[in-house]
Amino acid sequence: MTTVFSKIIEGSIPCNKVFENERILAFHDIEPAAPVHVLIIPKKVIASMNDVQTEDLPLIGEIHAVAQQLAAELGIAETGYRLINNCGPDSGQAVAHLHYHLLGGARLGALTGNSASHA
Ligand code: 5GP
Repeated sequence: MTTVFSKIIEGSIPCNKVFENERILAFHDIEPAAPVHVLIIPKKVIASMNDVQTEDLPLIGEIHAVAQQLAAELGIAETGYRLINNCGPDSGQAVAHLHYHLLGGARLGALTGNSASHA
């Protein structure tokens, strides 16, 4: 399935890029939820965390290494950050291409896990 992230990877939609190699692309989120809000994505089309295969695990590890590197470069390694993957409807995943949000630069809100009532 073609998503907006495939178009960003192929270059038909522009992005504010912060990292790229043969396997991974990272760019600023178009609607930042924090002072630093970068999306880190594999170039390989993987719809969600549910679709990650054993053969993809080195790629997932490399994404974490890129997140660590970008946190340092963007000045949030010491102040702290969050690396988030949304998977599926209940998470609010809007783009069906595996991606990680790197968020930081301010005190982030608590993760309550549920905005609905537990009653
Ligand atoms: P999700 O809710 O799927 O975890 O996150 C998707 C993210 O992609 C959102 O934070 C949204 O702002 C971002 N996004 C959607 N379309 C674009 C785009 O065209 N460019 C950029 N840079 N970010 C996008």
